[in-house]
Amino acid sequence: MPNVLVFCEFTGDQLKNGSLELLTLAKNSGNPVTALLIGDDCSLAAKKAAHYGAHKVIVSSDDSLKNYNSEVFSDLVSRAIIEASSNIVLASSTTLAKDLFPRVAARLNAGLASDCVSIDLQDEKLTVKKPLYSDKCTAEVTFQNSEQKIVLMRANQLPIGEPDSTASAETSSLAVESTNLSTIIKDIVKGTSETLDLTEANIIVAGGRGLRDKEGYKILEPLAKTLGATLGASRAIVDAEWVPHSYQVGQTGKTVAPSLYIACGISGAIQHLAGMTGSKVIVAINKDPEAPIFKKATYGIVGDVFEVVPKLTEEFKNLL
Ligand SMILES: Cc1cc2nc3c(=O)[nH]c(=O)nc-3n(C[C@H](O)[C@H](O)[C@H](O)COP(=O)(O)OP(=O)(O)OC[C@H]3O[C@@H](n4cnc5c(N)ncnc54)[C@H](O)[C@@H]3O)c2cc1C
Repeated sequence: MPNVLVFCEFTGDQLKNGSLELLTLAKNSGNPVTALLIGDDCSLAAKKAAHYGAHKVIVSSDDSLKNYNSEVFSDLVSRAIIEASSNIVLASSTTLAKDLFPRVAARLNAGLASDCVSIDLQDEKLTVKKPLYSDKCTAEVTFQNSEQKIVLMRANQLPIGEPDSTASAETSSLAVESTNLSTIIKDIVKGTSETLDLTEANIIVAGGRGLRDKEGYKILEPLAKTLGATLGASRAIVDAEWVPHSYQVGQTGKTVAPSLYIACGISGAIQHLAGMTGSKVIVAINKDPEAPIFKKATYGIVGDVFEVVPKLTEEFKNLL
């Protein structure tokens, strides 16, 4: 029976949705599940990991772990995988994980598949699927000759189970051993946004050059607020400095997979589509009926964003 380790990312006592999805998946597979948490204070999040199905929890809590450091984290994760005798390692395909796990894979000589959209833990060979070439095709990846198989899954692909607040897990701790580091992170300045990061958001309202200018982009804010959505953008308006780069969706921005993606005044260039075609429902608003975004849209509204967006916002306000 494979031993599954889930690397959990968290803030305070809140595990990220991607981690909750993977804990649920691992629990439902019937395999022994170990959760790994690394940070300055993991105690509350560790309890949550048990509620969502971890049988064992390995925590590495230390003041020095407040900020991510690739050298320290890759050492801790590699040691945790060995300590837990895990042969399947799951993590959400976040920016942190995409930096961390190639290092872990190299240390352990393990197989690694990142940015996956489907996985079957019952499959002995562990076959996963991942989109390639800007979502133009999907690769089926199987692991060969690797004792440990590491899979990074895109968030919002899997259901999250109900927590069992009475569940507890055997907990062990892992001490920091790395010294003489070549880099240290002294400070991280957090953004001001209070909404979920784009990669985790369930609803995204994204804008493009059709919004005319920085002021025009602001018509999306009431819509996003009404829906509890995260704001996104095309690269054209990030390059024009209407919004920060953290808003960018696409090939050179973030890959997202929300339940609902509302594209406002975005043409649907291939590089933009590369980041958002995993969305479950896509609504496109564009005044050009020939805009490529309509080929990917579940619902298309041919019209002026400055007329359609305020009307939609009002309708949603009445509904919600
Ligand atoms: C290597 C490379 C990487 C790239 N990476 C990315 C990436 O990660 N993400 C990304 O988004 N792009 C990326 N791009 C850029 C991409 O090719 C496009 O240039 C960009 O996505 C276009 O942004 P846009 O849709 O906002 O603007 P445009 O293509 O100019 O489209 C604006 C749209 O708004 C519509 N419109 C205009 N006025 C209105 C109105 N009043 N009401 C309704 N609709 C209106 C127009 O009909 C048009 O379809 C990349 C390009 C390259 C070469």
